[in-house]
Amino acid sequence: MSGADTEGMPPLSPPARFRDPESTKYGFTDLVLVRCPRCERVARVVPDPEPAGDARHPAAWTSPAARRRLVCRACGLTRRYEGPAVFRWGETTDPYFRQPLWLRTETRHGTLWAYNLEQLDLLRRFVGAALRERPPWYEHYRKMSYIGRLPAWIKRGKNREEILRAVDRLRASVVE
Ligand SMILES: [Zn+2]
Repeated sequence: MSGADTEGMPPLSPPARFRDPESTKYGFTDLVLVRCPRCERVARVVPDPEPAGDARHPAAWTSPAARRRLVCRACGLTRRYEGPAVFRWGETTDPYFRQPLWLRTETRHGTLWAYNLEQLDLLRRFVGAALRERPPWYEHYRKMSYIGRLPAWIKRGKNREEILRAVDRLRASVVE
């Protein structure tokens, strides 16, 4: 920043830019935090076995059959699942064992949820961003994209503070 050009003008703060990464609902299912069906603490649903390569490869999202393992470190429970991943938009359970998501909370407007902390961070960045951009592929992925399909109340600026508080509550509920 220099020069007389900007002298006397109000300082311009850079916009808080947000780009929705190429993240679909399916891209986040390599780790889903759920409520353990036995001890009700946080358990993880992970690929079984864990993939060696890139778990986000599109082929992995659309595979008709998935193998997943539910693991609870708190009580030692392990369960296995093999079958289709069933996604029902807005349903706050994991797409395999249908256990309640750990990261979900009620707000005055509706339920806020995420599969894992990475997705929660994406949500926080989206809600916190002053400027939202739609990259060229936006329309193509709109129907699948986690951000693109968020309900309207999450996208309203007037709800921002409330949603950010809820996101922070959720994040604090996971002790790593
Ligand atoms: Zn447990």
